[in-house]
Amino acid sequence: MTGDIDVKQYPEHFFYGAIRLDLSSAKKANISRQNFTVVPRHWYIDAWFICKECNEEFCWSKEVQRFWFEEAGTYVWAHPSLCRDCWLKHQERKQLRKQYDSLIGKALESDSPAVLKQEMLGTINRIEELSTKSLPEQIMQNRRALTNQLNGRNPIQ
Ligand SMILES: [Zn+2]
Repeated sequence: MTGDIDVKQYPEHFFYGAIRLDLSSAKKANISRQNFTVVPRHWYIDAWFICKECNEEFCWSKEVQRFWFEEAGTYVWAHPSLCRDCWLKHQERKQLRKQYDSLIGKALESDSPAVLKQEMLGTINRIEELSTKSLPEQIMQNRRALTNQLNGRNPIQ
């Protein structure tokens, strides 16, 4: 294999799905810092992908690649499917969803504090803002239930 010598021969399957690569600015990798089993990534190459969520084109830069594969310990075959904005939204949504899952049962109890119900509504609304699809039916039902509970009684008892 000559991929470690001539960047033009670089195996493109490391950039599977890329719509464009800028070979002219490629940077040599320090493979001793990489996490690989058989084949390391010899080159970091600016590569453009289409984000799976917003369908916009984004650049996965050689600097970010170096960080992933030499600092963060990411396995060499990885590549991104989301642009940075969508990735950040995705992370926040995941975090909020965990919060929702752990607190919704408590929040729905009829005698739980109104402030917890309100916070849960805020969490649900934020998850909705961050989502490209509509919320699962179960979450919408729970939102209606919380709203009804809050409207149906004086929160200060
Ligand atoms: Zn995106």
